[in-house]
Amino acid sequence: MVEKVNFGDELVAPQEKTRRVGEVFSSVARRYDVMNDLMSGGMHRLWKDRFVNRVKPRAGEDILDMAGGTGDVAFRMATRGARVTVADINADMLEVGKERARARALDLVWKVENAEALTFEDAAFDAYTIVFGIRNVTDIPAALREAHRVLKRGGRFYCMEFSSSDWPGFATLYNAWSEKVIPRLGKAFADDEASYRYLVESIRRFPRPNAFRNMIAEAGFIRASAEPMLGGLVSIHSGWKV
Ligand code: SAM
Repeated sequence: MVEKVNFGDELVAPQEKTRRVGEVFSSVARRYDVMNDLMSGGMHRLWKDRFVNRVKPRAGEDILDMAGGTGDVAFRMATRGARVTVADINADMLEVGKERARARALDLVWKVENAEALTFEDAAFDAYTIVFGIRNVTDIPAALREAHRVLKRGGRFYCMEFSSSDWPGFATLYNAWSEKVIPRLGKAFADDEASYRYLVESIRRFPRPNAFRNMIAEAGFIRASAEPMLGGLVSIHSGWKV
């Protein structure tokens, strides 16, 4: 029997999860950027700036921004001179990203790819980034192994992801915000309560920073580390391929 996986709080077959995650992001694509601002009070912009400061993209580097969606992180890296490939399983998210890139006159490569089984050659990239994407992937260890495969020796892996916070007061406040307010914002501004409920549930279910750091090490990266912010609600993870 195929082992079931979580789609938010529901247990479903692995292919069903991938299909439903696809539906969520097709449904939110057009409102994704404005909803990010509403849900995080604009904080996602600061987190992404901090993330890119950690990655330190350099002119002439090839960087794969996996689960890159509408391009927020990719644009920040491209303006620093890196050659950025934005890959995502969802063509609707990439379509919005391409329109935004045209408006900014930024030249990037856009590709539909499943993080679990990439079509890129071995050792193709200097850095691999994945922001708020990996918790949506059905087989996370497979995606980490693929990240390791497509990086050059000396290549950097960087991931930013949500989890639950261990700051007691803040965690209570955040849980109330995420369980009560975010799905309502989804209903009011995007007419889509279910998708936003999934996003909240998937955050709560993602491993704590130290557990995810161990998964990065198991995929073959050395110096795997986690930099938790807001008590682990958001963390920047990194690893190095030798
Ligand atoms: N990185 C962007 C950002 O921070 O704004 C987008 C993040 S969005 C929350 C998550 C993205 O992960 C979606 O665009 C979704 O299509 C993508 N995704 C989910 N599963 C994926 C998979 N297996 N392979 C590649 N992308 C995936």
